[in-house]
Amino acid sequence: MILILLGPPGSGKGTQAKRIEQTHGLVQLSTGDMLRAATDSNTEFGRRVKAIMDSGQLVPDEIIVEMIDRRIVQTDCRKGFILDGFPRTVPQAEALDAMLARRGLKLDHVILLDVDEAALIDRLSGRFTCGQCGASYHDRYNRPKRDGVCDGCGGTEFIRRADDRPEAVKARFEVYRRQTAPILPYYRERGILRTVDGMADIDAVTHEIDRILGSA
Ligand code: AMP
Repeated sequence: MILILLGPPGSGKGTQAKRIEQTHGLVQLSTGDMLRAATDSNTEFGRRVKAIMDSGQLVPDEIIVEMIDRRIVQTDCRKGFILDGFPRTVPQAEALDAMLARRGLKLDHVILLDVDEAALIDRLSGRFTCGQCGASYHDRYNRPKRDGVCDGCGGTEFIRRADDRPEAVKARFEVYRRQTAPILPYYRERGILRTVDGMADIDAVTHEIDRILGSA
């Protein structure tokens, strides 16, 4: 199964992707996570990409498309994958169609997490992830059961993203409206776009997605 999760920054794509990954045996392909891993290395490329990301702007389409094109042929993707944070522009959506067609693959579902933007700013400003397994948490809405200890892996190091600062959050919303929202009609016209209320609680959103995927 091939699935795209769409939605503005902070709409819960990463959290839901991690849940679906476990319940459906799919692999989460988060272009943001892949880029953050690439920018850990101290290369010129890494520094250039990190500067773009920290400002909240988009990394050029060619870099992202090539990254995904190489990733989806790896063996762990054979049962299917969840695209989280990709595509983010119409050219990326077109490139995805072309790369799937080339390999005889088909996009099964595109799910939009529909959210209220003002509430999202609140969500983004409090979020953090486990430095070891990547599980997502929030200062107010989703704290680990034991303070300072990851529920999933027991890790004790947590990370807050540089682009969750207020200026970068604002830029990311503008980018979403201008460059990413235009891909909604692209998928709506193809009849595969489904919308889920992303403001519902995390379990309710997962349940709704499971229903769409045909397993709840
Ligand atoms: P995310 O973790 O999905 O919020 O992505 C963090 C940042 O990585 C974005 O603000 C962009 O700078 C970059 N990025 C992630 N995915 C893409 C993409 N599909 N196209 C362009 N830039 C991306």
